[in-house]
Amino acid sequence: MKHKLEIQEAESEAKSVIARLNITSLPICPFKIARERGIAVEPKDSNRPGVSGFFIKAGNMFVIQYATHIKNEGFIRFTVAHELCHYFLPEHPEYLFQGRDGIHESRSGFISDDFYEKQADYFAKELLMPQDLFLTALRESGVGFPAIMLLASKCKTSITATAIRFAQFAEDPVAVIMSSHNRINWCFMSSVLASVKGLRWPRKDSLLPPNTVTASFNRDQTNVLSAKQIEAWTRLDNWFDKAPPVEMKEDVIGLGNYRKTLTVLFTEDPIIVDDDDDDFLEIGNENRGWKWH
Ligand SMILES: [Zn+2]
Repeated sequence: MKHKLEIQEAESEAKSVIARLNITSLPICPFKIARERGIAVEPKDSNRPGVSGFFIKAGNMFVIQYATHIKNEGFIRFTVAHELCHYFLPEHPEYLFQGRDGIHESRSGFISDDFYEKQADYFAKELLMPQDLFLTALRESGVGFPAIMLLASKCKTSITATAIRFAQFAEDPVAVIMSSHNRINWCFMSSVLASVKGLRWPRKDSLLPPNTVTASFNRDQTNVLSAKQIEAWTRLDNWFDKAPPVEMKEDVIGLGNYRKTLTVLFTEDPIIVDDDDDDFLEIGNENRGWKWH
């Protein structure tokens, strides 16, 4: 994404779709929105690597297809919402089809560096978890990992997408970490945690700290494939160099055939840091450029 403005353009288009359609409650159904615009939505038996869906123009008709290899209902809905961005943001159909009929292949889920794909992902995130409705639901959902699970069922979104949205708005220290085998794929933190002095972000593809429950969970891949879920405790400095030794809840869940593991670190207690420590790295989420944010 080149600039924040382009993210905001996609997000505000999603907000305006919700306002125009007078949607006032969760979950927001992208299938229904498509149907109301006369857009057919259908499954597509496609095994093209990384391709989650298709947006098709045939004359004045549009069709959305989602790949049947996606087994996660939340991600299917995200993919359909992504395709809706290609319909609603006027420059998208113009760019994708240039006035002709055609098929656009989508790679949704914040994996693509393409400008239009990124805009469509931000649109989808905002459409399915709009700030106002999400915040109201968040306040009614308690704290920590159980709140994330409840919000995912309220929004009908994937646990991963919901966890990131949760961390984005959480007032408590929260870290959302994606890992596979012994590596960290990415990490997202709530702003209060990201601003803790001294805390260093793990580098992309760095080793999982070996003494964590997540690391031992990943050593047995049946845990991941069977979508096992465990609760444990950890310390923040087990995970992040130079972090204070704060006790955190560590919730771990295997993501099945996605073959990755989601970990959520959480505490309700404020993190007190020693102000005399001037050896700190002040890096926020926006500077990381990792996937999913
Ligand atoms: Zn796309």
